[in-house]
Amino acid sequence: LGGLVLVAVDGDLIPVQAFTSTDPGEGKKKLVVLGTGWGGMSFLKQIDTRQYDVKIISPRNYFVFTPLLPSVTNGTVEARSIAEPVRRMLSSTGKQVDFYESECVNIDAVNKKLLCRDASNVRVKGKEDFEVDYDYLIVAVGAMSNTFGTEGVKEYCHFLKELEDAEKIRESVVDCFETACLPHLSDEERKRMLSFVIVGGGPTGVEFAAELYDLVSEDLASLYPSVKDLVTVTVIQSGDHILNTFDHRISKFAEEKFQRDGVTVKTNCRVLKVNEKDVLVKEKATGQEVHVPFGMAVWSTGIGTRPVLTKFMKTIGQTDRRVLATDEWLRVKGCKDVWAVGDCATIEQRKVVDDIAYLFEKADIDKSGTLEIEEFQRTMEKARERYPQLEVYLQRQKFRHVVDMVKISPGDAKEKAMHLNVDEFKKSLAQVDKQLKLFPATAQVAAQQGAYLAACFNALPKKDYKPEGPERIRGEGRHRFRQFQYRHMGQFAPLGSEQCGAELPGDWVSIGRSTQWLWYSVYASKQVSWRTRALVLFDWTKRLFFGRDSSR
Ligand code: FAD
Ligand code: MG
Ligand code: MG
Ligand code: MG
Ligand code: MG
Repeated sequence: LGGLVLVAVDGDLIPVQAFTSTDPGEGKKKLVVLGTGWGGMSFLKQIDTRQYDVKIISPRNYFVFTPLLPSVTNGTVEARSIAEPVRRMLSSTGKQVDFYESECVNIDAVNKKLLCRDASNVRVKGKEDFEVDYDYLIVAVGAMSNTFGTEGVKEYCHFLKELEDAEKIRESVVDCFETACLPHLSDEERKRMLSFVIVGGGPTGVEFAAELYDLVSEDLASLYPSVKDLVTVTVIQSGDHILNTFDHRISKFAEEKFQRDGVTVKTNCRVLKVNEKDVLVKEKATGQEVHVPFGMAVWSTGIGTRPVLTKFMKTIGQTDRRVLATDEWLRVKGCKDVWAVGDCATIEQRKVVDDIAYLFEKADIDKSGTLEIEEFQRTMEKARERYPQLEVYLQRQKFRHVVDMVKISPGDAKEKAMHLNVDEFKKSLAQVDKQLKLFPATAQVAAQQGAYLAACFNALPKKDYKPEGPERIRGEGRHRFRQFQYRHMGQFAPLGSEQCGAELPGDWVSIGRSTQWLWYSVYASKQVSWRTRALVLFDWTKRLFFGRDSSR
């Protein structure tokens, strides 16, 4: 059964050694992690450095709590409050880890070598580049903003991805207001200066628009009374609705709130080009092209590949892709000993249909060539873990046939009459693969993947490593790992004016002020250290009493 990674051990459907064992004859294996974002740091927090010689490589020596990045753009939270130094995070865990502040510019998976470049401004001439060897590589470099090749975006738009981006936006907003107040400007120029355009109606774009509206209405309006009525905020979205990955109630609430606030939402519009002073927008329905002038524009339309990965993907036969393809154990396809987590990777889940023959053979215990109900039932139960799409399918009960069959209790009169041959079996499962879903590019997914991978690495057997306590129970010496399973904990959409939408587990939607308080408490509790938690709480309190700081 070519390429199949399943075997039956103790009657379980489990992967054959998803990880190769560390060679007990050698010293610690060299494990290199690229990136100090959500994926990388969550891995590092969990990894057992007694078992591996761990190195981290990243062009920035701090972790950023990205969910609060939009709050930095208007000064609700200070930039430094959501950044935690990597070395501080590591030393607080007492781990032995080397950190190199540099950017990986080439991955050579054949010779297991990385080429790295000093990322700082202080460099030793002629010594900018250096090589690092690895035995195992964890790629967690995240993604970049995607311009989709649109002309002028890089030159004239702000992105909102890094901490510096948020700080630049904050400075730029205030700058626009100050410039608009200069005496020698025409009314039209003043208006343009105070026109803020956001391209992209996803969670980041919408949250930024909301934060900007709050800044203008709560703080700047009173400080710049002469120009406050000239301010316009425009969100340009290519789809039918903003926040279209959220429940429609949240999306509708957001649109209505923006309408009340006077934030213009242009849906079904595509940006063709960005000029120095305006964006050229095409309305999809009419084909009409209009110029929308701006003083400041923010581009937030999705994610693209980092150059180092584009190059790497070519060498491992993953061309024309936006992100690295991995299997369900997060191993990068097309090379050995490389794993990838977070925004830079996507899991290509296995299709049930590909394994039909194998599944059937395993299920048909008595080798009769047909499946009796009991055999079928047992197989479905075991296969659930391996093929999560099956789980969803059985849960939703859309597939009456399977459900009915599974539900029939043994001994039922119908049972004896029920037989499936291979073709019928295939037909009955044909719909299941449609349930496959890609995981979203979120901090939640990246962090869970990092933690999962570290747990797998920690559980690998090692000669001179004696796990104690709970670790022992977790499965010392077993080469058996479940594939990565994602647990969605819900998502928030802050909409400004102390209003927030939330989707919580169990299809529960909540919108309004109380949800905003939930948001405050969740994000305070999710801070990575007591230091950043204290700073964020302090910033929120400060804003409550003194408003936001409007100095550039
Ligand atoms: P990142 O966290 O981006 O980390 C990538 C790391 O790799 C960085 O440290 C970077 O410096 C480093 N790196 C880059 N290039 C190289 C290289 N060549 N060599 C070595 N290192 C490199 N998600 C949520 O779940 N909830 C939210 O509320 C939320 N809000 C967001 C708001 C904003 C404004 C943004 C931009 C994102 C938000 N996200 C949110 C998404 C979330 O931030 C990402 O999904 C998450 O950061 C992905 O983690 P990652 O580890 O893959 O990448
Ligand atoms: Mg990371
Ligand atoms: Mg340096
Ligand atoms: Mg991903
Ligand atoms: Mg049989």
